[in-house]
Amino acid sequence: DRANSRGIEFGDRFQLESLIAGMERSTARVEAGPLAPGLTGGKVQDITSPSDPSNIVGTVRFTDPKDVDKAIDAALKGFRSWSRMEPQRRAAALDKAADLLEERRDRFMALLSAEAGKTLDDGIAEIREAVDFLRYYAARSREMFGGMVPMPGPTGEENRLGWRGRGVFVCISPWNFPLAIFLGQVSAGLAAGNAVIAKPAEQTPLVAHEAVQLLHEAGVPKDVLMCLPGAGDVGAALTSHPKIGGVAFTGSTETARAINRTLAAKDGPIVPFIAETGGLNAMIVDATALAEQVADDVVMSAFRSAGQRCSALRLLFVQDDVADHMLEMIEGAARELKLGNAASPSTDIGPVIDQAQRDMLADHVSTISKSQKLVYAGEAPKAGLFFAPHIVELKDAAALDREIFGPVLHVVRYKAKKLDTVLDAVDATGFGLTLGVHSRIEATVRKVIDRLDTGNVYINRNMIGAVVGTQPFGGSGLSGTGFKAGGPHYLMRFAVEQAVSVNT
Ligand code: GLU
Repeated sequence: DRANSRGIEFGDRFQLESLIAGMERSTARVEAGPLAPGLTGGKVQDITSPSDPSNIVGTVRFTDPKDVDKAIDAALKGFRSWSRMEPQRRAAALDKAADLLEERRDRFMALLSAEAGKTLDDGIAEIREAVDFLRYYAARSREMFGGMVPMPGPTGEENRLGWRGRGVFVCISPWNFPLAIFLGQVSAGLAAGNAVIAKPAEQTPLVAHEAVQLLHEAGVPKDVLMCLPGAGDVGAALTSHPKIGGVAFTGSTETARAINRTLAAKDGPIVPFIAETGGLNAMIVDATALAEQVADDVVMSAFRSAGQRCSALRLLFVQDDVADHMLEMIEGAARELKLGNAASPSTDIGPVIDQAQRDMLADHVSTISKSQKLVYAGEAPKAGLFFAPHIVELKDAAALDREIFGPVLHVVRYKAKKLDTVLDAVDATGFGLTLGVHSRIEATVRKVIDRLDTGNVYINRNMIGAVVGTQPFGGSGLSGTGFKAGGPHYLMRFAVEQAVSVNT
């Protein structure tokens, strides 16, 4: 099903052809730089395609961290007019941006494929998700900001409660969803009445640049939404600034901790921090599970998007009676995957994002294979930044002590009577993002859900691709602060309440 929330098909034959043609044609290089009044930027860097690093997709002029002050002052002015604007008009700008994004899906598909290595399937899903975020938060903001809610009160007093924006919200987004997560944070910040300064991931500033231009075109003023491409120094200048109103961040747990410390130490108001971080996500498969379906769901969850989703399956627990058979099926399905240039329509798995990620994955596999059993090593094309799916069997779940962001599946066998040990091991990771269960025994499913606080639990299906407004997404513990993205409470963290009591 590739229809988005308004039922618009991205995946019918004609449109697929136009998306593919768009990718092949798209040679227009993007020249990105700070999108903020009066800022020109500093150091220039080429952005190359991970499928073919000799292909220069565009250039980016990084923000000079010294200019952050100027951007925040401009955004504070923008905030004053945006927060007082009719909420309907703010929401209308987001809806308009969703329309424009649908119209320009060929262009965004081409950019996602070239800059971020997104396959056709991944790119379509990502554009659809971005459109959904824009429309969903626009709709939520109409409800939230539609008027103050009457509260009970003693006779002679009229009490009301309402919401307003917090100020300048800083949004720091990851390279693995350079359009959907980027626009998800940005549109939430704007919908809640804030000015937004977005700092896209260092690897993917081009998609972000065009997405922000699109929002400007849709009617969001340039001093209300800014884009400051750069590395960690720009992020640090933003998060340590005394005049910001809040921070939304998606990325590693380690960076989230650093931002949290910065926020705690800085001057100015105490501001909310919304972090969506990593996962060491498990799937539990018992002997009642359907092997064909498990193979399909495991391959999808562990290897799709080259495993570069925070929701991806990392740790598969299989009941020992069926483990050999299940592993054989999973390996067979993994062998069928076609790795290659993301722009080719027959590609299942595209590249990983950069050389550093590929080196990290290669190091991990070579180190862990010394003490654990390497069951399957796929083959990757030599040119381009590819890393093939791997399967490693662990003696014990504790052999994997961190999130490995890529297509490496770790498998642990367990005995039916030892399900509690499995649940303890999952709990002991400290993460709580996604969890899969394949079982036809209702009591088992109930026990797993009861015992674990994981944010998103998927029963008898794959465990990636949460849908906006349907499967609100986000974890607990080391995986994030909440509220869930694409859920009914998310905007509340971006806004502040005001109560008014009138003596009548
Ligand atoms: N929302 C995505 C999913 O459900 C994952 C987001 C991420 O990787 O950060 O697959």
